[in-house]
Amino acid sequence: MGGACQRVCRNCGCTHSRKGHRHCWPCEKQRKPTQPNSTTLRTEQQLTHNVTELMRTFPPHSHHRAPLVHHLSRGLDSATAANLLHCSPSYVRQCKRKNYSGADLLQDKYARDVKRQKTQPAV
Ligand SMILES: [Zn+2]
Repeated sequence: MGGACQRVCRNCGCTHSRKGHRHCWPCEKQRKPTQPNSTTLRTEQQLTHNVTELMRTFPPHSHHRAPLVHHLSRGLDSATAANLLHCSPSYVRQCKRKNYSGADLLQDKYARDVKRQKTQPAV
């Protein structure tokens, strides 16, 4: 009796009788987090992911890496930052200590390959 009403959850494969739903109730709850800050959480997770991807694709000896590590590791312990920024904890500590306010990453106001009017480089 009631066999026709049984539905198979698309997520865990259990049978449930929630008509018109593809998921059982526990899975439905997991699919839709109800915390009010879930959007913020997702944004932060995405940003963390983006930063990690950026640091992973950086050339190993890029001179932009150190100033980025310096700024991005702020407020994080070096082990967490190292994990996130794809470098060693000792490198993070080294970058944290240094002052990178003069780094060209923060100083360059023009792209390096932009030719400015006043100087005509010899061809
Ligand atoms: Zn389920």
